[in-house]
Amino acid sequence: MSLIVQKYGGTSVGDLERITGVAQRIARYRRQGHKVAVVVSAMSGETNRLTAMGEDISQQRPDPREMDVLTASGEQVTIALLSMALQVESIDAKSMLADQVAIRTDSAHGKARILEIDTDYLRSEMDRGCVPVVAGFQGVDKNGNITTLGRGGSDTSAVALASALQADECQICTDVDGVYTADPRVVSEARRLDHVTFEEMLELASLGSKVLHPRSVEFAGRYRIPLRVMSTFADGPGTLITVENENMEQPIVSGIAHARDEAKITVSGVPDIPGIASKILGPVGRANVEVDMIVQNTAADGLTDFTFTVTRQDYERTIALLAPVVEEISARSVSGDNEIAKVSMVGVGMRSHAGVATRMFDCLASENINIQMISTSEIKISVVVAEKYMELAVRALHSEFGLEED
Ligand code: ADP
Ligand code: ASP
Ligand code: MG
Repeated sequence: MSLIVQKYGGTSVGDLERITGVAQRIARYRRQGHKVAVVVSAMSGETNRLTAMGEDISQQRPDPREMDVLTASGEQVTIALLSMALQVESIDAKSMLADQVAIRTDSAHGKARILEIDTDYLRSEMDRGCVPVVAGFQGVDKNGNITTLGRGGSDTSAVALASALQADECQICTDVDGVYTADPRVVSEARRLDHVTFEEMLELASLGSKVLHPRSVEFAGRYRIPLRVMSTFADGPGTLITVENENMEQPIVSGIAHARDEAKITVSGVPDIPGIASKILGPVGRANVEVDMIVQNTAADGLTDFTFTVTRQDYERTIALLAPVVEEISARSVSGDNEIAKVSMVGVGMRSHAGVATRMFDCLASENINIQMISTSEIKISVVVAEKYMELAVRALHSEFGLEED
């Protein structure tokens, strides 16, 4: 008998029939004698719908506290419905909001971090045979305000709960039967991986593979929580996220990630003198805009171009922010492109293999895809390309590196 935390995503609880299916799945685990705690997301599309309403009524300037109250409501619906469906299966179940558990976070509305989780109430309910059904994505700060963890954050709720309960496994139950070599919606030949290392999964998730929320992987790695991605709708082992096994031959490239919501900003004709990067990026950072890749060209005639990427959501705001900076530093202009995408190859095997980058660039060149920016780390290479070539790039690289083959 083990203690399992299971998380069900939006598609898995997308309608009443599916919620009943999830209840029957949980009932099977209970009948096998396992203790189960459940975390659920809102019904698919619901968080988008709530967000759009909040943006609409506030004229695109929603108060972050109220936005969290609004978006957290999606999960309140599914915990109640799933608990009722479990009761129909003769399983004792009880819905719990984050403040009832309690899941304590900091006060960063919209991107709160979990600080601690009380387990006394949860444990006492589980000890008497009850299945707690906990609202994912939400938390409560020290002043009792509702917070949310960021889009896709229910994965992190589940891993944090598994850690607090010292669970034997955290299962992320979703609409794919594991982690694939690329998004199966883009590459039909993508292959399910039996294992992927925490380090690789963290890169893949951070670089756009939305199958897991990046912070859930970080958390699971840090606290060594066995984490498995599996299908809600079919049986199978799924993908286990593991620590790197040094005795095992590692593939050079394990997976390809893509991120569509990127934008690129260029400040041109910048005087090539000390302090310029900080003059440009200082105001951007202070406005809480996260900068990803940065490139500064070599100077010609004492002038250079400075290019960086931000999320598409921050694009307009960042351009506006830089208008006075351009004047201040006597640069020529600020321009941008919000139809770009990032394609990344990830693999721990890259550490010991030279030439991966060249092969990647050759492959993209042979497809006539222009590379606009490049960034590398020990186990990944990312390129920025025009958004319209993104899917082609992912497919071409998948085939070039033979990822469809076991
Ligand atoms: P949930 O609602 O269950 O949290 P998500 O939509 O957040 O599900 O994540 C599952 C989706 O992630 C899949 O449907 C798939 O399209 C996408 N995805 C992206 N990259 C990958 C990958 N490498 N392996 C599996 N799925 C991926
Ligand atoms: N419902 C939230 C979202 O759509 C959290 C989650 O699904 O993980 O982002
Ligand atoms: Mg998700």
